[in-house]
Parts: sequence; structure tokens; C-alpha cells
Amino acid sequence: MQICVIPGDGIGPEVIAVATAALRVLAPDLTIKEAEAGWAVFQRTGTALPETTLALAREATAILFGAVASPSHPVPGYRSPIVELRRTLDLYANIRPTVGNEVDLVVVRENTEDLYIGRERLEDDGATAIAERVITRAASARIVRTACELARTRQAYGHPGKVTIVHKANVLRVSDGLFRTVALEVAADYPELTFEERLVDVAAMQLAAQPQRFDVIVTTNMFGDILSDIACIHGGGLGVAASSNLGHGRALFEPVHGAAPDIAGRGIANPTAALNCVVMLLDWIGRPHAAERLRSAITAVAAAGIRTPDVGGQATTREVADEILNQLSAQM
Ligand code: ATP
Ligand code: MG
Repeated sequence: MQICVIPGDGIGPEVIAVATAALRVLAPDLTIKEAEAGWAVFQRTGTALPETTLALAREATAILFGAVASPSHPVPGYRSPIVELRRTLDLYANIRPTVGNEVDLVVVRENTEDLYIGRERLEDDGATAIAERVITRAASARIVRTACELARTRQAYGHPGKVTIVHKANVLRVSDGLFRTVALEVAADYPELTFEERLVDVAAMQLAAQPQRFDVIVTTNMFGDILSDIACIHGGGLGVAASSNLGHGRALFEPVHGAAPDIAGRGIANPTAALNCVVMLLDWIGRPHAAERLRSAITAVAAAGIRTPDVGGQATTREVADEILNQLSAQM
């Protein structure tokens, strides 16, 4: 099985080096191929996502992605490589787990349509701005099915098997009305799960105040974007949050954080989010035992107080990495 590793820019290479080292220990049989993407390669070659990278990403079963820096103002020819990868590979489901004190939930966000399709225009000599929102039956059905399958898998591990369908169908009667109708149709195929509906504003409030009542949340693209950042609060912050993008038997795993230019090169980036990506990757390729080994190593190292400054410690990336690898070899 082939894994494509794309470290990217900023702290991407720093945290991905740690994640790759752990992956090599936990799954030595995997073929790991490294590839370039991002701002640095754009400046050198004029493309942020070289053809060779795209080819390796297509060949791979799973992709481990670090972070890419994006220019703060539009640069001609620069297209975000992560957006390009999601689109080209049709990675339609964005999955963001949050695990914290009494909280264990996953936000499943549709990744390909909604207001984010980029169909915006000005009318009335610039006095009116219009954005189109597209919701399709096909995309709604596959995202809800992804959420249901995930809830069912989690149920086998003791989770409640509950799916919360989030929409705003009382106002967006046509577009969210379609999403809601399709979601309820798909739900009928999963009698072993329980379903509930929430309007997005209520869901946001409850996710902030009572996150322990959720298991799997499924929603459209923009609502999912916002809700997954709210969920993040309960999970120990940007330094630990991981996510995946799934579609067509392929998956891309990436930390929620970005390139973090303010701390890049200082050796203090928290590698936990990247390591949690490896946990998700191992689970996804069907190696729950290896995933559990890494999960317990991460927990043990944090419990021993070996933490980077963002989570209240004084350790460097290197020190956390060494401890993780020590833990993994001590488990043997
Ligand atoms: P980008 O534009 O690539 O998203 P950013 O400036 O928004 O970059 P983020 O990576 O989103 O930076 O991070 C936001 C803040 O959180 C920064 O101050 C950063 O230093 C901190 N941060 C993010 N990830 C980590 C990490 N892994 N370890 C420590 N601090 C982090
Ligand atoms: Mg950011």
C-alpha cells in the first residue's frame, strides 16, 4: 500500500517529519513517497501543485498532508494546492473529530458545493453582490451516507450511534429543504442509528455549551466549516486537531492548523495534530491496533508533561517526537 506524504510549508515539514517517523515504526510495510506542494515550490517553479505530486497523490491510497502557506493577497497563477487536491480527487467528505473532557464527537462536512463554489458576482454597478448556493441530491446523499457509516463504525466501539442533521431549512426552504429531504431518506436505511435535526444556529449554541450531547454531526459545506471550528474549542486547540478528507476509496489527512509562519523554524511546533492524522490514517486503512498504540503513546507523553508551549509546556518538537518514539518502542 502506498502513502503519499506532502509536508508543505512553514511548520508543515517540522510536524510531518514526526508523523512520518511514527508511521514508519507502526506500519513498516507501507511504501511512503514524499512530494512537494505549496508556496515554496510555487516560488521556485511557478506551480503550487506540481504534476509529479498530483500523480503520486492519485497513485496513493492515503495522503498525509502538512500545511501550505498561502499569500495574503491574490497572486496570479497561485491556486491553493489543498483546494486543488480536494477538487481533483473529489474528496467530498471533510471529517473532523473532537475528543476532549467528556466530549467525543465528529463533524462531517460536505466539501464540494454550497456557497463555496465561487459563483459570486457584482451587479448594479457594484452596489449589489450575489453569491450562488448549490445543493445537489447526489452530494447530499453521499455525505449523509458517509456520516451514517461513520456513526455505525463508532457504535461498534461504544458510541451512541446518533446522527445530528444540521440545516436551516426553515429559511433556506429550497436548498436546505433538499438537503434535509435527502438526509431523511438516507436515514431510513439505517434503522440501528438514531437521528435528530437541528437548525444551524441552535446547533452552534449547543455545540459551544453542551458538546457532550453530540456524536456525529452532518451538514452542508459552510455550516460545517463554522461548526467544526466551534467543536475545536473542546479538543485541546489547533495544536492537536486533525482532519480527513474522504472520497472514492481515497483519503487525505491533514492537521486543522495552517503553516503557522509565526513559529516556523523555531522547533516548538506541536506535532500532536500531525500524529493524530496518523492515528486516523491507520484506522482508515484498517489497522486499529496500530492506531491504538499511537493514540496511547500520545496520551502518555502529554500526561507525563512533555508538551510544547501552545499546550502549556516547555518541550520542543524534537523532545515530544523522541518521547513518542520511545513510548512506541517500549510497547513492543
Ligand atoms: P495559515 O494562513 O497557514 O493558516 P496562520 O497564521 O493562520 O497560518 P495557523 O497555523 O492557522 O496560522 O495558526 C494560528 C495560530 O496557532 C498561530 O499563532 C500558530 O502559531 C498557532 N499554532 C498553529 N498550529 C500550531 C502547532 N502545531 N503548534 C503550536 N502552535 C500552533
Ligand atoms: Mg489559519
